[in-house]
Amino acid sequence: MRRPEDLLAWFDLHRRDLPWRRTRDPYRIWLSEVMLQQTRVETVLPFYNRFLERFPTVGDLASAGIDEILALWSGLGYYRRARQLHAAARRIAELGTFPSTLEGLLALPGIGAYTAAAVASIAFDVAVPVMDGNVERVLSRCLALDEDPKSGNARRQLLAAAAELLDPERPGDSNQALMELGATLCSPRRPKCLLCPLRPGCRAAREGDPERYPAARAKRQGERHRLVVAVVEKEGGVLLFRRPEDSALLAGTWELPWVTVEVDGVPAAEAPAAALTARYGGRWTLGPRAAGVRHGITYRDLEVDVHRAALAWGGEVREGWAAEWFDAAGRSELPLSSLVGKVLAALSPEAPATRSRSRRR
Ligand code: SF4
Repeated sequence: MRRPEDLLAWFDLHRRDLPWRRTRDPYRIWLSEVMLQQTRVETVLPFYNRFLERFPTVGDLASAGIDEILALWSGLGYYRRARQLHAAARRIAELGTFPSTLEGLLALPGIGAYTAAAVASIAFDVAVPVMDGNVERVLSRCLALDEDPKSGNARRQLLAAAAELLDPERPGDSNQALMELGATLCSPRRPKCLLCPLRPGCRAAREGDPERYPAARAKRQGERHRLVVAVVEKEGGVLLFRRPEDSALLAGTWELPWVTVEVDGVPAAEAPAAALTARYGGRWTLGPRAAGVRHGITYRDLEVDVHRAALAWGGEVREGWAAEWFDAAGRSELPLSSLVGKVLAALSPEAPATRSRSRRR
């Protein structure tokens, strides 16, 4: 038996004091939910505070330029979230009011089922359960669910269990309590069952092996990518390229020019200089390898060979791209991928000497 009042009593005593829990402003709650996607609370806090200092209301965000928003987002990753936030803020400004129903929130660009349920319940007391990774883990354990929690059947069972724990008087707190429990007690490893208010009804705790749940999902195979990054310098500046607005990934962010030269040991068809021309335009000449960097992006393990390079062109770039020179101060204002920082740090005079490579390409 799981009782909402036990969960809420625990939450009232043990909740972490976080800035988005001191407000009912839907904009601030929404912003926190978007920033917290795939990102830890400690990482989000400084970004959240800085963002709200600059954009204290949804109207301020709606009227801002995307470059300034992306620059404030820089370092938080997953830039698509910032673009969708901006698009939704503009829609809210057009509507003249923040939608307060699940349907109204779901109609905003980029707002999915989780975010809509979280904002509706926390800001507007709509009695709807949320389902995120923490809730999936807690409830998979309570039910001793042997199925992949993302499967349709498992999802229905998890949502029913979450609804059972929802106090209709305090739906936002019920949802936050379940997420908090997953983040603090019901951790992936060594859950603290003795302190848990759900223990009396938890089947996994009774079985004695809660870590067995949630059931494992099939893992995507990791891939090893070898890249060449070309650094073109002039008078203290570095040439950066801005991705087209319609890029599927990292649209509008600035990058050092790069190409893939090998995936899982299979070499690319084109030589790096020709591939750089195909991607960015111009004629490229690469110097010897100057540094090496490792970088991970989701399931990709990147091995990056950094070369200083020369580019001959008349300033023309491929359609949709932009190119500009930036010094260190200019770069600090840009939305940049973290790989740019790593590459430039590896080239700086203070960087440890590059080890020679034993493998020839
Ligand atoms: S009793 Fe243990 S396994 Fe069950 S929900 Fe609580 S912390 Fe998780």
